[in-house]
Amino acid sequence: MNWLTDFFYTNPDPFETLTDAAGTPIESRRRETFRHAFKARRGRSKISWKKIPKRFRKPLAIALGMLLLAAVVVSAMWLFPYKNGRRELSLGNLFPSSAAPELPEFEEESTATDPKAAPRRWRYIVVHHSAGTSGSAQSFDAYHREVRGWQSLGYHFVIGNGKGQGDGKIAPGPRWYGQQTGAHAHSAEHNEFGIGICLVGNFDAQEPTPAQWRALVDLVKRLSAKYGIQPSNIVGHCQIRQGGTTACPGKNLNVQALREAVMSDRR
Ligand SMILES: [Zn+2]
Repeated sequence: MNWLTDFFYTNPDPFETLTDAAGTPIESRRRETFRHAFKARRGRSKISWKKIPKRFRKPLAIALGMLLLAAVVVSAMWLFPYKNGRRELSLGNLFPSSAAPELPEFEEESTATDPKAAPRRWRYIVVHHSAGTSGSAQSFDAYHREVRGWQSLGYHFVIGNGKGQGDGKIAPGPRWYGQQTGAHAHSAEHNEFGIGICLVGNFDAQEPTPAQWRALVDLVKRLSAKYGIQPSNIVGHCQIRQGGTTACPGKNLNVQALREAVMSDRR
């Protein structure tokens, strides 16, 4: 036990209060020890502003400041997604809902609805394009939940173009099955009573595939017959959007031709 006795005899008690000759306490050793340790750490620090040559300090400070600003801007853009022509706080980004319904497994091309869901008096059919080259009901559903913070896919149906979803394949979304209000039109009336159909593709740059067009005509025909929707209420997104403008569904998707195709078979 020599090392132990040696330790206590050679190292004074770190908590002892030292007094001067008159008996008044002076700095405790404990504080002294911390101060020394702190000084030693600072002295050993590898990164020190003072080590940087003076002429580099200002540009470096500006660069760091801009980096911080960029981080703030990027996180703000993530928190406030741009929609309806303005930024909106999406709490879904802060608190992603774990209770969001899953996209149910549907029979392809089915227009079946949940027997428990209250029927909705659909009056409009609103046609959209995705404005991207690829995608599917699943990928848009994930995007609408994760990025927009919505409960599920905003459209009622998605028609694939072979890139992400079968060419001409119609996929119904959870809002169709549940007969819920859509999130696609930027118009309260058309979200409430409009069936949102999105075709994958950018029809300002390309044409809908023949299979997509056939599927669209077939789906609109079935839905407008079932709900008694007037041809004039079959509309492109750009025709009904309130506030702000959109090219949706693109100049190559002819809504008038769609109405005529739907009507021609009715007669
Ligand atoms: Zn649209």
